Amino acid sequence: MRELRSGILLIAGILGMAGTVMAQTAAQKPEVPVEKWTGKTILLIGAHADDDALSHGTLAMLQAHGNQVYVVTLTTGNVGTQDPKLSRTQLAEIRRQEELAALKELGIRGDHYINLGYDDGLLEFEDRKAVVENLVRWIRKLRPDVLFAWDPGKNFQRWHKSDHRAAAYLAADAARAAMWRLLFEGQITQEGLKEFMIPEYMLYNDYDFQDENIWVDITDFVDKRVNADAHYISQYGPGWKDYNPNPTEEEVKEMKAWALDTIRTRDGKRVEGFRYYRGLPDALGK
Ligand SMILES: [Zn+2]
Repeated sequence: MRELRSGILLIAGILGMAGTVMAQTAAQKPEVPVEKWTGKTILLIGAHADDDALSHGTLAMLQAHGNQVYVVTLTTGNVGTQDPKLSRTQLAEIRRQEELAALKELGIRGDHYINLGYDDGLLEFEDRKAVVENLVRWIRKLRPDVLFAWDPGKNFQRWHKSDHRAAAYLAADAARAAMWRLLFEGQITQEGLKEFMIPEYMLYNDYDFQDENIWVDITDFVDKRVNADAHYISQYGPGWKDYNPNPTEEEVKEMKAWALDTIRTRDGKRVEGFRYYRGLPDALGK
């Protein structure tokens, strides 16, 4: 803790905003519980359409409570199917429509979904500088109060499957780069954007929840999460092997039952857990 604080103090001194930064980094709990957040801009960065599904209860709640929620997805999801009939182009379009339908269930507008168009399965081999620049542009445009992203790890590099691994680090690197005026300077001198530091982070995982430090009560939004999940027909419904845009009632029921089963319970409440972090993006993994 001492090392973290002295490092932050040094950087804060350089930035001439010591008071603000020290206040922001002192605690790792939100000052206001997530359930009471309102008027915030929320950005989630994921690799695939459905990476946000792990947070759908929380996102639905934030949307309902007067926050602006945006989802940036890095890849088109144009590879992940076992159906031999689907082409990459078809799959990308299916994934887009599924994501828009899922977000609609949460009350999130279609124009708040931004897909950056990279190929599914190969994100870690893209030009990292170009991807980070792309993400920085969106961060500087949207100026989110909170970033949801795959957890890059606390004090170690967390293992995720490839695109998730890449997305975790790309999001963290973009959050860091966005605050420096002289990085991707053209966005500021040519595009009218301004540097921006994201103050708060909600980092998610799909397994190995040991670093979680907050659990959001999504009891009132379980139905929205389940209904949203039922739109990912090509992802984990019967459509993963044999895609049919119109599943039977029985199949939808099965998908919803499975979706409900993925929601965790803690102290008798339905929850989504996160590693919450507040402070300089430089110390996001500490
Ligand atoms: Zn994914």
